[in-house]
Amino acid sequence: MLKLKEIRKIYEVADTEVHALRGIDLCFRENEFVAILGPSGCGKTTLLNLVGGLDKYTSGDLVINGKSTKEFKDRDWDVYRNHRIGFIFQSYNLIPHQTILGNVELALTISGISKTERIERAKKALDRVGLEGQYYKRPNQLSGGQCQRVAIARALVNEPEILLADEPTGALDTVTSIQIMELVKEIAKERLVIMVTHNPDLADKYANRIVKMLDGEILEDSRPYSEEDETKEVLAITERKIQAEQQELAKLQAENPDKKIKKVKKEKAKMSWWTAFKLSFRNLLSKRGRTILVCFAGAIGIIGISAVLSLSRGVKDYIESMQDDMLSGNPITIERSGVDMSALTEESAINDKRDDLEIGDWVNANQLIQYLIGNQDVLLNLQYKNEFNKQYVDYIKSMPDDYYQAITLNYGLDITKNIYTDFVVSNDPSHPGYYLNGNYSLDAITEVYTKAIEQMDDYSQYSELITSLNTVMSQCVSNNDYINSQYDVLYGELPTNDNDILIVVDSSNMLTDLLLVQLGYYTQDDFFTLVRKSLSEDPSNYLTEEEYVSLTRFTFEELVNKKFTWYPNDTVFKEDTEATVLPGTKNFTHLYRSEEFATEGFELNVCGIVRPKNNISYGALTQGFLYSESFARFVIEQNYESEINKFVRERNAYKLGGLAYFADSFAQDIDGKVGYNLPFYWEYNDECGIFDNENGIAGDEDDAPYITMFNRSASSEIMGFFGVSSGSKTLSLRSLGGDYMPESIKIYPNDFANKDLVTDYLDKWNSDDDVYYNVYDENFKEILEENVLLLETAEERIEIKYSDDVEIIISMLNTMIDIITYALVAFTCLALLVSCVMIAIITYVSVMERIKEIGVIRSLGGRKQDVSHLFNAETFIIGLLSGGVGVGVTWLLSTIANLIVNHLSGGSIAVIANLTPSTAIIMIIISVVLTTISGLIPAKSAAKKDPVVALRTE
Ligand code: ADP
Ligand code: MG
Repeated sequence: MLKLKEIRKIYEVADTEVHALRGIDLCFRENEFVAILGPSGCGKTTLLNLVGGLDKYTSGDLVINGKSTKEFKDRDWDVYRNHRIGFIFQSYNLIPHQTILGNVELALTISGISKTERIERAKKALDRVGLEGQYYKRPNQLSGGQCQRVAIARALVNEPEILLADEPTGALDTVTSIQIMELVKEIAKERLVIMVTHNPDLADKYANRIVKMLDGEILEDSRPYSEEDETKEVLAITERKIQAEQQELAKLQAENPDKKIKKVKKEKAKMSWWTAFKLSFRNLLSKRGRTILVCFAGAIGIIGISAVLSLSRGVKDYIESMQDDMLSGNPITIERSGVDMSALTEESAINDKRDDLEIGDWVNANQLIQYLIGNQDVLLNLQYKNEFNKQYVDYIKSMPDDYYQAITLNYGLDITKNIYTDFVVSNDPSHPGYYLNGNYSLDAITEVYTKAIEQMDDYSQYSELITSLNTVMSQCVSNNDYINSQYDVLYGELPTNDNDILIVVDSSNMLTDLLLVQLGYYTQDDFFTLVRKSLSEDPSNYLTEEEYVSLTRFTFEELVNKKFTWYPNDTVFKEDTEATVLPGTKNFTHLYRSEEFATEGFELNVCGIVRPKNNISYGALTQGFLYSESFARFVIEQNYESEINKFVRERNAYKLGGLAYFADSFAQDIDGKVGYNLPFYWEYNDECGIFDNENGIAGDEDDAPYITMFNRSASSEIMGFFGVSSGSKTLSLRSLGGDYMPESIKIYPNDFANKDLVTDYLDKWNSDDDVYYNVYDENFKEILEENVLLLETAEERIEIKYSDDVEIIISMLNTMIDIITYALVAFTCLALLVSCVMIAIITYVSVMERIKEIGVIRSLGGRKQDVSHLFNAETFIIGLLSGGVGVGVTWLLSTIANLIVNHLSGGSIAVIANLTPSTAIIMIIISVVLTTISGLIPAKSAAKKDPVVALRTE
């Protein structure tokens, strides 16, 4: 069945040629036990490898069942080896990390046989060689003889027609050798066995044909087989095969009557990817320690990059949250006037280095003055006036809702003269000031304390400054969801009604004592205790712990339960018709004490107390007592037509006429300033005073039982006349609720990322001709008409400027982080590169280590691709594990970093490193791809390994 014709094999080593076989002519019977004898180096193994299709002959022909192999492709050889040939080697060549069963199975695996059949057949083959029950042992748990039995089982499992054995007993002792020979002889009963040996005794005893070789030639053949006989035999075999095939076909057809079966399944040899994965996985498992090390080493690059990305993401997230936070504290603001320094730096280029200037050891004066004087438009831009009108406010209010969290219209009201609350001078009925306890305006209470501080020698000049540090009540942002996103409600609830007042404390639940003083939460007694004790140099006068707590701790209920009542202007400001007034002016008296009122006020209700959330450092709300925007509008509605406002409005209308002239000259008489807003007298009654019955704390040497700390009359104090006051008390029409036009507009964009939407919208007013807006009613509450086209072109409109402070800082910060991230990623990419090179080296080492296995797989009929798949599968697994380890370690590091930062920052920074799932997945993919690529070259080199060389390697 096998015919060798003139087979020659020449190895080329360096420059010389080694003639291993020098023209072999030999025919083999279908069923015989041939022993090939000969001295070492005579070409026995070479001959066997050629017959087995492991090696290729240089010239001549190998005819298999009448078929020449001259035109055989790799594929044909693989199928031939897998289905026709079984190999046994002297050194067994078992794969150490596979069980015995696995080793035997391998040949079947390569032929693509199903798992159950594989196991069944492999077990059968093992049973046959006498190894039943030892299926799951590893090769290193077996003796040499047992190993060779496994090798025989592996060779037989595919039921090959030819068994090739290369010195199968070479490594065995005599007794074992005989056992193996018996086994081989048994096998030879039903197939062709060609066995190389250098033991003539064994050959004589077991073989039925002995071929002796010398120097690559046949020396002697004990039972030659003629070519004619071989041809006849081939004919018979072919016929038998055709018959067998037809029988098989008929049988298959009978089993599947519906299908038309044309052919019996073709023989094939192909290892599935799955098998490749399983083999590699087992190999990696068997070298567990090293695999873990490799995975960690491979993971370093991945850890580096994902850590940088995680950190960068975390910091960016933090900055983003800070951005939004900063933005809420610094909203986009449109004020009716302002200074825009950017106009100066942008246009004058004073910050730029000037090429035309000579630089030496002198100082150059730039020409800012000339520049400013010469460029009026720069000055104009520098001090801009945003005289926005109702159309503009309507336009702002028409902004799409999803652009912003809140828009606040600030009306610049001063409501402290209209809100009244309990002011307790003393709780002690024997106190001379006790009778003064009553309901006072907030402004009056502030004034009382201002005067009190003024009476303290060293502090008198600061009194106005100190009490002006607080805005007693200011306007709240009108979006409760937005407030909720930034503030925790400590008590009560967020404002819902016009008369609701919200208290905003800081992160340590604090409000300034000064504010509480001005809101009447302290009695005058308590105030003096605080001041006196802090002024005292005698330690015995210091506040005791108990005093301190009782003076500085307010319960929520205490804060919330205090009553504040608002009264309209006409109740609060009374024209004094009896006073002598300058011509064209009126004398209004502010009634500081509510007992004098006949009307009922509008009761305010402190609805809740909020505190900024942990991670909020700016926040949209100012600290203190906040009223709603709707309350501000209510105040304007109520006060717009009040007597005092009507009068002021009338005066303003005359401002170009004689009155203005008069006002002008009169005002200049007072302190050289011009003002014509508010011509009224504002005075305190004589009675209003501050009493202290113990010490003269204001440095008054008077020994009287109490000291009048402030006592003024209409003649001694004239405040707010013509809007020019002695301090900062300018009362304007606006502050009195006589103007529906806001003083400033604050826009809180949704988040920093989408701030552009808002600024683009604002820019549109200045640059676009077609501007649409909704027309609102006078107090901007209800829409009267929707989507109205503004008739003016951009050119005709007044340009309205806005300020966007956060933008500049943040964009700089973001650029910096980007640059740092790029640099770090580039840096860690190096680590990744190093990892890749290392993986390549390790794969290469693995190839070297598994070179035997490669040979075995190839000898069993595995294709080159199967071998490269095997190694690719291995690097794939390593890549996956490395990626997993890398991502896992990074996740762990990130978590630890977050815990530490969270701890160090006292909870305000919760996340500094954020490994997003998408980044994690991408990093794993990168790891797999890179390691697989790194392994491609070693895998390819493994595939190219000559199986003969591979098997010869010890
Ligand atoms: P045997 O098995 O009879 O001891 P071999 O068939 O292994 O001998 O070797 C026959 C001759 O071919 C020897 O001279 C050996 O050195 C040479 N030879 C075998 N394989 C190679 C090879 N891959 N490259 C070069 N020479 C080889
Ligand atoms: Mg040999």
